Amino acid sequence: MKKILMLAACLFAVSAISAQTQVIAHRGFHAKSGSYDNTISSLKNAQELGVYGSECDVNETADGVLVVIHGIMHGKLNVQKTDYATLYAQALSNGERIPTLDEYLEQAAKNTATKLIIEIKDHSTPEQETRVVKNTIAAVKRHKLQNDVEYIAFRQHVCDEVLKYAPKGTKIAYLNGTLTPEYCKGLGYTGIDYNISTMKKHPEWIKQCHDLGMTVNVWTVNDTAALQWCIDNGVDYITTDNPVEANRLLGK
Ligand code: MG
Repeated sequence: MKKILMLAACLFAVSAISAQTQVIAHRGFHAKSGSYDNTISSLKNAQELGVYGSECDVNETADGVLVVIHGIMHGKLNVQKTDYATLYAQALSNGERIPTLDEYLEQAAKNTATKLIIEIKDHSTPEQETRVVKNTIAAVKRHKLQNDVEYIAFRQHVCDEVLKYAPKGTKIAYLNGTLTPEYCKGLGYTGIDYNISTMKKHPEWIKQCHDLGMTVNVWTVNDTAALQWCIDNGVDYITTDNPVEANRLLGK
């Protein structure tokens, strides 16, 4: 009887581990009709879907405004070399405007059950990146969202600055896929957030992260087989353009 109970406990523990996989809508739930990535509507859609997190990308305009947009180019305009008013004048294809980080945080604060995963993009100089980090953290504080925001970045310098200036305990994951979990842990990062092809080459990094008390996020996982691979391998977060399918596979 004791053995059966122990087996049942083990099976429960295993299923509890795989059930922990959470869904992050990459650039918001923009696949929903009428939306566009990194817009207020895409964040709202992610909140309504009830996913763990909604990812977004932060860039600084030439006149120092933090805006939410993925690419460095908006049409023919380089976002980081263009002032905000000029960017605002160019509507996105669904009719929305490029949101400022402040507008985005205002929407995030309306439903904090969905966390905001803020990617701080690469900028021209380390000094500019430090400024963007400090101003992003200040904006998050103004909106009282310190406990509802997590950070990700490709640049080690950006991750280091987030660690330096954000409140203790803030989550920061490295995106670039070039560092081992142990090395990231040594830098103080709380997780890795790597491409699916990197993780398939290094599936052992999942256990290594967990043993180190770190989280594993995988991007950008859209097809069913890859989503299932992440779930089966016990990754903590799947970043996806297809949150509906991820939810379905998770039985949500
Ligand atoms: Mg991003």
